[in-house]
Amino acid sequence: MSRDAVGAALVAYGRELEAAGAAQVGESFSRSEAADALLKSDPNAFLIAVLFTQGIPAERAWSAPYALKERLGHLDLHRLACEPDAVIQAVQAAPMLHRFKNTLPRWISAAATRVLDEYGGDASRIWAPGSHVLEVTERLAAFSGIGRKKSVMAVEILIRHFDAELQGRECGQVAYDVQVRRVFLRTGLVEHDSVEAVESAARRYCPSSPGTLDLATWLVGRETCRPKTPLCDVCRLGDVCPRLVRLNVEGVGATR
Ligand code: SF4
Repeated sequence: MSRDAVGAALVAYGRELEAAGAAQVGESFSRSEAADALLKSDPNAFLIAVLFTQGIPAERAWSAPYALKERLGHLDLHRLACEPDAVIQAVQAAPMLHRFKNTLPRWISAAATRVLDEYGGDASRIWAPGSHVLEVTERLAAFSGIGRKKSVMAVEILIRHFDAELQGRECGQVAYDVQVRRVFLRTGLVEHDSVEAVESAARRYCPSSPGTLDLATWLVGRETCRPKTPLCDVCRLGDVCPRLVRLNVEGVGATR
């Protein structure tokens, strides 16, 4: 067993997911056809979903734009920007769409304003064809409520699932997320938990597209490398992993 073998196994898994155009959880984002369809047809809905990918299960986050639209009756950016109280009420109505019941609505209204002001009301211009991965990462991270971790994840989804034609895949990265961090530690890909160590390891094992490791690692973390009860015997990395299961990281596990 060696780090190289772990790295190679994760790259192979990542390439499989890319070839399948994987979404986030299997073939889906939200496990709801209607909610997935909205994400695929409306770039503004995808951007809003990214805001939600924190502190709640992934499926709930990715279905939130659909639920928000059902509650408001629209996802019109002008109204999202100019009617913040309606957004607050829609997010906070039972069952609440997010546990960040005050900040999430603010992020949504601010994102709507930014997309109107800077991207002509069309979020897909953030990731316009020919843009560089680093530019798109920066543009997304500039939104209140996104930041680097979510923007790195979003860029990889845009490339893998939405066929965004971006330059510079060698500059992509894994999102420094609790699942990714735990798997990198327990497999020995890193010796300590830091953004620099994780990103450097991703570059080492997949220099042409470090972000290829993102979803693969996150899925291993979510499905088998669980914080308290890792399922090593059925893990995709079980044959190559040194199984350093005593190592763990702090954070909320299932969210992205
Ligand atoms: S579940 Fe076990 S085999 Fe799989 S990555 Fe975690 S420690 Fe390694």
